[in-house]
Amino acid sequence: MDIKQIYMDANALLEGHFKLSSGNHSQFYLQSAKVLEDPKTAKLLADELAKQIQASGIHIDTVCAPALGGLIAGFALATALDVRSIFAERVDGQMQIRRGFEIKPGEKVLMCEDIITTGGSAMEAAEVVKSLGGEIVAVAALANRGFCKREHSDVSTKPNCKLPQDIPFFALADFTFEMYAPDACPLCKDGSEAIKPGSRGN
Ligand code: ZN
Repeated sequence: MDIKQIYMDANALLEGHFKLSSGNHSQFYLQSAKVLEDPKTAKLLADELAKQIQASGIHIDTVCAPALGGLIAGFALATALDVRSIFAERVDGQMQIRRGFEIKPGEKVLMCEDIITTGGSAMEAAEVVKSLGGEIVAVAALANRGFCKREHSDVSTKPNCKLPQDIPFFALADFTFEMYAPDACPLCKDGSEAIKPGSRGN
């Protein structure tokens, strides 16, 4: 399965000058929502990811996604794995699990994102799951931005990866673009202005 081609076909691999949620700048941006707007593609990707996870033999009771980015991928993956689907959401900056979702002691939870960059949001949500008695057994995403080592890939873990090394991370592909601190961004030096994806109709 050529994930990069699927992103390109869906116009989900944007080229320009972007300000990422981390504050860094990049020439490329992955707009997973564009890929997932076609439920058939979402199912195809989630089925492929589920196959990898099932082949690992790890038992999953529940998929938990940090909202908003992880919601569709999480739901699609839970469907493919035939397990429960819940989500965590940010309230006043703090990740919380609300909406009456319950977690049983020892419940085996997979954290799911659309894209894992450093894994910061997934791990914030994971802390909430753990505080409610759940056990984090895996992390999954459609795509990996190349900071964390995923199963079946040679891309090594970078120092800013926040995913624990002892929990397997599954993703369908590595998208390893350069990212720049704003004061070292060559695109800024060329005089263009970084835009926040989603803020100007993209
Ligand atoms: Zn820039």
